[in-house]
Amino acid sequence: MTNLSGKTALITGGSRGIGSAIVRLFHETGARIVFTYRNSRSSANNLTAELRQKTKEEVIPVQADCANPDAVRSLVKTTIEQFGRIDIFVHNAGIWTEGTIDSMDKSMWEETIQTNLNSAFYLCHEITPFMKKQRSGRIIFISSTAGQRGEANHSHYAASKGGIISLTKSLADELGPFGIRTNCVAPGWVQTDMTGDVFSDADFLQKVEQNNPLRYVPQPEEIAGPVLFLASDLALYVNGEILNVNGGSVLCG
Ligand code: NAP
Repeated sequence: MTNLSGKTALITGGSRGIGSAIVRLFHETGARIVFTYRNSRSSANNLTAELRQKTKEEVIPVQADCANPDAVRSLVKTTIEQFGRIDIFVHNAGIWTEGTIDSMDKSMWEETIQTNLNSAFYLCHEITPFMKKQRSGRIIFISSTAGQRGEANHSHYAASKGGIISLTKSLADELGPFGIRTNCVAPGWVQTDMTGDVFSDADFLQKVEQNNPLRYVPQPEEIAGPVLFLASDLALYVNGEILNVNGGSVLCG
């Protein structure tokens, strides 16, 4: 029931980290994939070459800044021209920067909201007409524990990820009658480039591990599995869910 053969998936931020783990797992389970990157062209090309060697399922990397509505329009057009439909949309691309509320300038706030939240609007605005026509679709957003409990010195990030949670619930209600399920995965700390700097401080990493009931920080693959669950027929009756994938570090819905 986790077989995605015949399904087309559009995945943002597939060049690295959690996104590339989702691309790999979806490809392994038979999906045709369009994934985006912004700057990491060589990572995107390497991933594509690796997957094309494994099976015949198509994988197409597209350079697209999700924060740019024109680029998003063109990305969705390309996907539809290639595959004729979008069955699964995973919005994973995101950024995480640091700043206190008084030191942060307007451009820093806006860049984060634009990249993490407004992008979700641009993408859903373009994709949902096709899903509505199909009378089916899966939308999966990647939020964060920061969006559930807030995050000091990252208020812009937490606000953007909290917005994603409200968007998930709104679209679940709005799009459910069209057979479109909207859900969200909210990871805690994950070992990726995003956290590479902070985890280069071994004491900090150890503190994070000790504060987690499972006592470790996961690899991206441990986030990709729950995303596949939501994309698959195992989750047919799951809609509007915020799925915690944080080892039990933040116990809220
Ligand atoms: P990452 O390793 O930094 O990778 C980020 C990905 O997003 C890259 O593929 C990057 O593409 C892409 N991206 C960034 N801005 C973009 C834009 N404007 N347009 C298109 N693509 C863009 O991050 P990650 O840790 O895998 O995080 C993935 C998601 O999980 C994010 O939404 C993040 O907020 C969330 N998350 C992460 C953690 C964590 O601890 N790592 C925890 C909770 C939630 P390029 O490389 O091509 O620029």
